Amino acid sequence: MFEKILIANRGEIALRIHRACKEMGISTVAVHSTADADAMHVRLADESVCIGPPSSAASYLNIPAIITACEITGAEAVHPGYGFLSENARFAEIVEAHNLTFIGPKAEHIRLMGDKIAAKQAVMDAGIPVVPGSDGGITDNKEAAKVAEKIGYPVLIKAAAGGGGRGMKVAPTAADLQTALSSARSEAKAAFGDDAVYLEKFLGNPRHIEIQVIADSHGNVVHLGERDCSLQRRHQKVLEEAPSPILTPAEREKIGHVVSDAISKLGYLGVGTVEFLYENGEFYFIEMNTRLQVEHPVTEMITRLDLVEEQIRIAAGEPLGYTQEDIVFMGHAIECRINAENPKTFTPSPGTIQDMHMPGGLGVRMDSAIYSGYKIPPYYDSLIGKLIIHGTSREECIKRLNRALHELVITGIETTIPLFEDLIENEQFLKGDYSINWLEKYLESSS
Ligand code: ADP
Repeated sequence: MFEKILIANRGEIALRIHRACKEMGISTVAVHSTADADAMHVRLADESVCIGPPSSAASYLNIPAIITACEITGAEAVHPGYGFLSENARFAEIVEAHNLTFIGPKAEHIRLMGDKIAAKQAVMDAGIPVVPGSDGGITDNKEAAKVAEKIGYPVLIKAAAGGGGRGMKVAPTAADLQTALSSARSEAKAAFGDDAVYLEKFLGNPRHIEIQVIADSHGNVVHLGERDCSLQRRHQKVLEEAPSPILTPAEREKIGHVVSDAISKLGYLGVGTVEFLYENGEFYFIEMNTRLQVEHPVTEMITRLDLVEEQIRIAAGEPLGYTQEDIVFMGHAIECRINAENPKTFTPSPGTIQDMHMPGGLGVRMDSAIYSGYKIPPYYDSLIGKLIIHGTSREECIKRLNRALHELVITGIETTIPLFEDLIENEQFLKGDYSINWLEKYLESSS
């Protein structure tokens, strides 16, 4: 096992990784920008190294500075968290080239899943169902029209290098196709420097359901069930729950099996998430995330596994030590993403936290790196905490969430807490009856 791990991230996820390391008896090295010198992940780590000025490009994405920090401190492995360098195949290779261990998948899989066209083809070949669409990139507009006719309108044009919903355009009818193609291409070119696009059938009202997998270096693969992340705003997840309120045990077992089989065929290593849209009882692959996800705690709550500890053990070459039969899902978990944003307009609200009170009690977990007097820097993501609740049933979980939200106090800045207070009183949310389009409509109607 490693003796010292460098955590190449900030905020709640850096703290989350630190906590797993401490429980495993591993020393931690925090890295930070000058703007984060007083951050909690720096205060709690055993050692810390400043890696640059506030901008992410000059600090948390600064590969030479991070490698140097490993060399100075003698860290043997790097945990990238999520975001920043976590899905950068080149970074994983550079880490390994310096005789350090990258706590994550192999570079080849990060690279493969980063290319959406190649990823779709690879998972399809491994037996995963995908959204009907073009067989690869589309360069010719006439060919695009033919493919669109075949799959049927409405169609969605997506960027091969896509991410964050950019370069995505819907063509409701044949008359809209040419305009949608050129605007998707120019948006993709501007965002990713690559104008390659592909076509997909546009699904009208799907849910977003993702399967968590975990694979060791000894050929063992296990799936840890699903998370329902359909509550989204601008393709960003807002609240996640596990299990999905609508999936039957038979459906779970079937898709879980298909996914772990495919992951095994691909020779994947570590934790990963296969994301699907789900409509009328069918699953359609959209992408695979080759990292720990923001919403991983809901899976931890219902499986009682520490996914960061699992990542570290796998990177150190240990076998999983359990099989699919050992995974028993217990109760229900919900995560609310608390952002430093206005709850109506969602404009960022950086500033200084005056007072705060964190909720507690049975089944209540708060993953956050904020503290009273903490000044939230304006340079990074607005996520300041995740309230994660566990209950024996969805109903109990929501009641517990309700009381935990009433206990939670953060003053001095605006947060998205009021959004959740309203949401959990909504009939449709209580019934679990929502698709990926529901939250935006709900927000419009309640504004
Ligand atoms: P990105 O990598 O840009 O986030 P994804 O492929 O993950 O792109 O899709 C982002 C979101 O776009 C999905 O969560 C879903 O809301 C929507 N989406 C993607 N593909 C489709 C589709 N074929 N039909 C309808 N909505 C889609």
